[in-house]
Amino acid sequence: MSSSRTAAASPSPIHARTLRTPEELVEAGFVTRDTLPAIADVAEQYATAIPPAFRDLIETPDDPIGVQVIPSPEELVAAPHELADPIGDDALSPVPGIVHRYADRALLKPLLICPLYCRFCFRREHVGPDGGLLDEEALAVAFNWLRDNTAIREVILTGGDPLMLSPRRLEHIMRELASIPHVTTLRIHSRVPLAAPEKITGTLLDAMDADKAVWLVVHANHAREFSPAGREALKKIQRRGIPVLGQSVLLRGVNDSETALEGLFRAMVESRMKPYYLHQLDPAPGTARFHVPIEEGRRLLAGLRGRVTGLAWPTYVLDIPGGYGKVPLGPDYLEPSLSTVSDPNGQRHAIRTPDTL
Ligand SMILES: *Cc1c(COP(=O)(O)O)cnc(C)c1O
Ligand code: SF4
Repeated sequence: MSSSRTAAASPSPIHARTLRTPEELVEAGFVTRDTLPAIADVAEQYATAIPPAFRDLIETPDDPIGVQVIPSPEELVAAPHELADPIGDDALSPVPGIVHRYADRALLKPLLICPLYCRFCFRREHVGPDGGLLDEEALAVAFNWLRDNTAIREVILTGGDPLMLSPRRLEHIMRELASIPHVTTLRIHSRVPLAAPEKITGTLLDAMDADKAVWLVVHANHAREFSPAGREALKKIQRRGIPVLGQSVLLRGVNDSETALEGLFRAMVESRMKPYYLHQLDPAPGTARFHVPIEEGRRLLAGLRGRVTGLAWPTYVLDIPGGYGKVPLGPDYLEPSLSTVSDPNGQRHAIRTPDTL
């Protein structure tokens, strides 16, 4: 601990280490010593990691950055509506590492490691620092499955976080996928650019730069995640011609206000990132403290309509529990009659069509 105190006294407040153990969380002042036994129980079940870039952003443990990554004893309580596999990944997996729900696209999960472990993670029963890395043989089986399924146009690399792969491994995977003739698009889902921006090195960028359309979807839930280093990492990725989209989860205590959502989506647009999805929280075990009801989510988004640039407007989606797919949750402006519509201020207007004139 004394060495990190010396580091903190130096001009650049960089903590080199990722916090992982309950004892480290106590030392950092993120959990109190009296909750240590409960936090240790949580740590037995669910992975914890707070990388330096996020640690530096936490002002108090219950702030919008802290609550995303600091474990809580409440995680030990599974609510009756919660499911170990909330979106049915397991049932839709034809071979290890592949999830196939839609005809034209499939997920490839090459590893289950993340730069940090979100306390609300929908795959929290699976993700973690040990294991989950597809070996050469399993990868070859996954590539063969993708080659045989000629309807697949897009492969979505997720996990875990694909940008936690070594550049050499990522490059191998990107090249293999790019060599499949019917695959036109490679999409990477990641938290790394903002959570561990130092990993976006020239070699990693070379590895991402495949000879097919590559898209990056970055997970971010609060404007404060956009640190100068994070924004710089995003810029480096964009300079490679990789379009960047944003995806977020609607979370109690993180972004459950019009101001917080406006700040988040504006931060994305200012980083040339198009907000893509705002996810309704998936009911993974022990995540109820983050739940925001759908009605409230619709009201929050409706509050932004008309006030915030359309570039900052994501689609609010629910991944239907059980593996039935993602669907938009509104808010709706068209009435069921299809002949009346509301404007952003809530005023109703008849739609003029050739038939009504
Ligand atoms: C979320 C998801 C996708 C991607 O869906 P988009 O709506 O295209 O972003 C694809 N496959 C599975 C299994 C998914 O869960
Ligand atoms: S980055 Fe994604 S997969 Fe990883 S812990 Fe967070 S929600 Fe789960």
